[in-house]
Amino acid sequence: MGEYICTICHYVGMPKTAKRGSGKIEKFGWMIFPLGLPYTLWRIVSKIRTCRHCGCPVVPVNSNEGRRLEAMEMAALGPIAPIKPKAPPPPKAEPVKPAPKPEVSNQDPTEW
Ligand SMILES: [Zn+2]
Repeated sequence: MGEYICTICHYVGMPKTAKRGSGKIEKFGWMIFPLGLPYTLWRIVSKIRTCRHCGCPVVPVNSNEGRRLEAMEMAALGPIAPIKPKAPPPPKAEPVKPAPKPEVSNQDPTEW
């Protein structure tokens, strides 16, 4: 029994299974009788596995893609990653002087 890894959130575990396609189309297919049968069969046969957390597609852990994702996850969590030293606080910026106001003439444009 293989485990699956999520391609998005890297959750490892048993996936959910979901039917593909839509129930509406299935019903519609059954109204036009012969079309409903292959559609229903296709939905039953082609169940897709999705992540329990985010509902995104999952891949088997022991596949190439799964190993790559797992390695990425290990690199992200592992002790290999160096702890970044705290950067010194940036020097205090000089107090910003209020910009000099442009000269506004006191003349009222409506006044002549
Ligand atoms: Zn996920």
